[in-house]
Amino acid sequence: MRFAALDKLLALGRANSLWPMTFGLACCAIEMMATGASRFDLDRFGAGVFRPAPRQSDVMIVAGTISKKMAPAIATLYDQMPEPKWVVAMGNCAISGGPFVFEGQYGIVEGADKFLPVDVYIPGCPPRPEALIEGLLQLEEKITGSRRFPRVEPQRA
Ligand code: SF4
Repeated sequence: MRFAALDKLLALGRANSLWPMTFGLACCAIEMMATGASRFDLDRFGAGVFRPAPRQSDVMIVAGTISKKMAPAIATLYDQMPEPKWVVAMGNCAISGGPFVFEGQYGIVEGADKFLPVDVYIPGCPPRPEALIEGLLQLEEKITGSRRFPRVEPQRA
């Protein structure tokens, strides 16, 4: 109880300075790179500092197809990140295997949550940069318990 205010302050700091790992697996990673570039400017949300090493990162954005060969390396990277840490599954491949799921497939892990604790799922093939930004805002909301920016509802025709 005495530390509740401190916890709240720490959560606020963490949510507003997410440091994603520089790490991509397939086509979704190109959208992730676009999100970090000047047109979308992730720095507005405090998440623009992509770190070059897992030990300096607190968010793993799984962006792309997870091959069974790559999965152990991804798990190692996750283990090397310090706590507290979060995982974002970006795109249909990271959510469920995407277009590579078919009977008899043997090379793809059908979703990051098969071996990682995923916090936020961002659907799309690929999701646009705005969707990744919304995913990061949802992660912020999960960390602090409150929403920093208003949710934009889809336009109806
Ligand atoms: S979800 Fe689509 S765009 Fe993303 S990695 Fe898979 S195939 Fe590529």
